[in-house]
Amino acid sequence: MNPQNEELWNKALAEIELSVSRANFATWFKNTNIVNNSEGVVTIGVPNGFVKEWLENKYHKFVLKSIRSLLPEVRVVEYSIVSSIAEPKTLKIKLPREMSVPSEEQLDFKEFQIDPETNLNPKYTLESFIVGSFNELAHAAITSVVKNLGKAYNPLFIYGGVGLGKTHLLQAAGNKVKEMNPLKKIHYTTSEKFSNELVSSLQNNSVYNFKEKYRKYDLLIVDDIQFFSGKIKTQEEFFHTFNTLYESGKQVIFSSDRPPASIHDIEERLRSRFEAGVIVDISEPELEARIAILKSKAAEKKISLPDETIEIIASVIQKNIRELEGALNIIHIQSNHKNIVLKPDEVREILNKNVRPKNVVTPSQIIKVVAEFYDIPEKSIFEHTRKTEIVKPRQIVMYLMREDLGRSYPFIAQKFGGMDHTTAIHAFDKISKELKKNNKLEEEIKSIREKYQNLAEQGVK
Ligand code: ADP
Ligand code: MG
Repeated sequence: MNPQNEELWNKALAEIELSVSRANFATWFKNTNIVNNSEGVVTIGVPNGFVKEWLENKYHKFVLKSIRSLLPEVRVVEYSIVSSIAEPKTLKIKLPREMSVPSEEQLDFKEFQIDPETNLNPKYTLESFIVGSFNELAHAAITSVVKNLGKAYNPLFIYGGVGLGKTHLLQAAGNKVKEMNPLKKIHYTTSEKFSNELVSSLQNNSVYNFKEKYRKYDLLIVDDIQFFSGKIKTQEEFFHTFNTLYESGKQVIFSSDRPPASIHDIEERLRSRFEAGVIVDISEPELEARIAILKSKAAEKKISLPDETIEIIASVIQKNIRELEGALNIIHIQSNHKNIVLKPDEVREILNKNVRPKNVVTPSQIIKVVAEFYDIPEKSIFEHTRKTEIVKPRQIVMYLMREDLGRSYPFIAQKFGGMDHTTAIHAFDKISKELKKNNKLEEEIKSIREKYQNLAEQGVK
């Protein structure tokens, strides 16, 4: 393999290895290499037809994703049997022909190294979690909870925007407790998983088992609880689960993308449980923290880049730690690819090309996010109705179009099917006034803004 291809494949494999069980990794990725990489097409050489079929049918998305994260210009990844990659005699895997792979669904690789009992992924640790002023409260609260399970802050509620480390911190808490006391029963789940499990237990007449299972934990972690919103049956069941755990002194940790007061369609009694302990938020990392995070990720991945380059990445990417990591990889592989130290302008250019332009929020993104946030169909925002559940989101959309996009009142009125522009003025004034006295609304609008900024950054139209 030529050295650049080798480097690329090793990096891609390192990513893949993190997310695939050791057995699967050894089985399917052993003796593979990149045999060709030109004009956006990467060809992976594989030792035999079985491996080719599995990679194509089960792992392809993942391979493509990890290669693209390193070399964004790659369009196609294909697999080709290369007889010279001899299969070592020790590899005793013989697959019967009928075990050919169903191709409907690509595997969810992250699942593989996760402990099925706890749902914890060992890659998330407190040691690898960088603390700055943006997250130090959340980190301190977690540390305290880990040391005094059920006694310090119970429940602990952590909220913050996408990619700011909530899952990392929650998972790290679970891993730490497990490390300190392997006998503790720990379980991590998401609100969606909890809900799905409940639904299938109802279908299989196994609700009793479901209840039993959730009531035995010493530490229950529920991530992204904003998705409980609107799920009445799930909320009811969760309420009882929570009470049982809480009353027997068991620890519960929650995360959400917004504070409890801003989660809509949630029963008051459940909301008051969320609010009963300690609520802390994670905000956006400041520049120093972004630099520290990049340096630590670089060290972890044995990447060496000049400080100046790191600083440029940290100053261009401000809101999302997941994106910081992505940018670091791109810059690294590009400088290796060209075999040079990139000049500051080149770093900026690559980031500008690969990291989406900021703040190109569009009216339709605002409408989409607001509709989702208040759980109403997008088209109902345009309905001429006085129903409060529609009027409020509609006024918020108008407010945001004016305030954040600087659109004129006539423009906004026209967007809403040619209504009178004074209606848009009225909506703007109403929300502006309301915002001054209503904290809940303020939080809601903050969450909405974060969401469409994320959409915009992800380039969703
Ligand atoms: P969230 O759940 O809030 O959307 P994640 O926990 O998934 O965010 O974090 C996104 C990525 O950023 C993960 O790869 C995570 O390991 C990393 N990350 C987030 N916060 C930190 C931190 N403080 N220190 C180190 N890595 C972090
Ligand atoms: Mg998360």
